[in-house]
Amino acid sequence: MIRRSLLKSLGVSLMALGLAACSGSDKSASSTTQTADQPPAQTFQWKLVTSWPKNFPGLGEAPERFAREVERMSNGRLKIKVYGAGELVPALEVFDAVSRGTAEMGHAAAYYWKGKVPAAQFFATVPFGLTAQELNAWIMYGGGMELWREVYEPFGVIPFLGGNTGVQMGGWFNKEINSLADLKGLKMRIPGLGGEVLKRAGGTPVQLPGGEIFTALQTGTIDATEWVGPYNDLAFGLHKAAKYYYYPGWHEPGTSLEFTVNKKAFEALPKDLQAIIEVATRMINQDMLDEYTARNQAALDELVNKHGVVVKQFPDEVLKQLEEIARQTVAEIAAQDPMTQKVYESYLAFRKNVVQYHHLSEQAYINARSD
Ligand code: CA
Repeated sequence: MIRRSLLKSLGVSLMALGLAACSGSDKSASSTTQTADQPPAQTFQWKLVTSWPKNFPGLGEAPERFAREVERMSNGRLKIKVYGAGELVPALEVFDAVSRGTAEMGHAAAYYWKGKVPAAQFFATVPFGLTAQELNAWIMYGGGMELWREVYEPFGVIPFLGGNTGVQMGGWFNKEINSLADLKGLKMRIPGLGGEVLKRAGGTPVQLPGGEIFTALQTGTIDATEWVGPYNDLAFGLHKAAKYYYYPGWHEPGTSLEFTVNKKAFEALPKDLQAIIEVATRMINQDMLDEYTARNQAALDELVNKHGVVVKQFPDEVLKQLEEIARQTVAEIAAQDPMTQKVYESYLAFRKNVVQYHHLSEQAYINARSD
């Protein structure tokens, strides 16, 4: 009995081996045929310029991670070299560099181009506007992406989402902000539409790339600054140049970063590599928000407990007045050209809709949560 069952199982094993051997030779035969029929896969070497110091936590790491994933998914057919701010082009010239093809790709924030493309600001962030979750929804499911493509089309640039910081902090100040009057005459690094709101409130907005903020604040070139949130602000050591850390970031309630791609370079890629870029940008977009959400509180603890930073909330009255100024400012800027007006109207309609539902979902839940 034992022998018979042993033989039987041996027989099965031999049969299995035979099949495996057959399928093995079939496989190698077919792969040889494939190789003979197909030309060697074309490889691409791209440059990606950024507005961030090389490998800066979160912002600078995202394009590096993107490049690694693209190389892995394309099996080395698309290799992307990432440049920090100033390595190939200055931080605030990323859009131009991608537009003229100096680099095939860029990673930055769309509000940096407000002087050239006013409508671009809406794809980064709007004071008292959409949160990260809501902005992603507008761009991917509310018509935002189609408009964004239309806005960048004349420059030969294709936009993709490139990460989101979530709600930012209100910024670093060396004096208390007790009323709107305390913003008068204040020279503050604050980009985009938030900067325009500060201007109407009597302050002087300054647009500086991240890498220049600390020195400007320390030497008194600026009186105050905002940057991102605890995780990023700690990395720049902004607590060494200012005492008060205000919240919430009314001016940047969920700032989207962007990947930009030179249109001609994109169209020269085979379809599968184009798809890899699309999918990898969406992955990085979510990944950055996940990372900030995970890391901000530990960084805030360090700022407060180790460095003695004083965390303060903007008074309700100040926020209320800023919201009113923001409403007027954004509407006026939008009215300056038809394209910006078109983007603004789409944004506004989506905001109205999503806010209604979020009042009884996200907001109601966060209010109901007791700790
Ligand atoms: Ca900011």
